Amino acid sequence: MKISWNDFVKQCESCQACPLGATRTNVVIYRGSVVAPIMFVGEGPGATEDEQGLPFVGQAGRLLQLLLDAQGFSTENYHIANVVKCRPPENRVPTEQEAAACKKLLGMQILICKPKIIVLLGKTAYTLFTGDKNAKMTQIRGSFIEKNGYLIMPTFHPAYILRNNNERVKLWKDIEQVRRKAEEMGLMERLPSQPDMPTERPSK
Ligand code: SF4
Repeated sequence: MKISWNDFVKQCESCQACPLGATRTNVVIYRGSVVAPIMFVGEGPGATEDEQGLPFVGQAGRLLQLLLDAQGFSTENYHIANVVKCRPPENRVPTEQEAAACKKLLGMQILICKPKIIVLLGKTAYTLFTGDKNAKMTQIRGSFIEKNGYLIMPTFHPAYILRNNNERVKLWKDIEQVRRKAEEMGLMERLPSQPDMPTERPSK
C-alpha cells in the first residue's frame, strides 16, 4: 500500500508504539529533502533535537553539517533521520525493543524517499540494518555493502568523533567516498577540486 509523505508524518506524530512516545516533546522525523538520493541514519534525538523537532541539530549534528557542507552536499542531496524518532531519556542508547518498534516507521520513510545510498551513522543503525550486534565500527566502516537494493556505508556517529577528534579524518573519508559514489551514479555533480577537511569544533 502506498502512503503519502503527509500521512506518514501524521502516523509518526501520533505514534505511541514504544515508551519513548510518552516523554518526547516532538517527534523527530527528518531534515533535508524527502526525495534526496542519500539518506543518513543516526541513533536517536538528543535534547536539542527533541526541542526543535529536527534531527542532528545539536553539537554532533553541527559537526556532521560542517563535513557535509565542506564536501559540497546541499539540502536537496540528503535526508537525515534516526533509528528512533523520540528522544531516549538522558540520551541513552535506544533499547532493542524501542528500535524494533520504530523500525516500521523508518522502513516506510525509506520506501517513500527511495534513497540510492544509505549512510549508517554508528553501531545502533548498523545493527538495526544488518542484525549484527557484534560488529566493531572500526572494522566495518568505510566500505559499501549492498542490501535490499540499497548501497550502504557504515561509519562513525559524529557524537563519537566529538569525543575522539583524532578519528575525524575517517568520518571525513567515508563521507568523501559517499560523495564520489554519488558522483559516479550521477546523483551529484562533480566537485571542481578536492576540499580540505574542516578542523574546527562546533560549539556546545
Ligand atoms: S520512538 Fe518511534 S516507535 Fe517509539 S513512540 Fe516514537 S515514533 Fe513511535
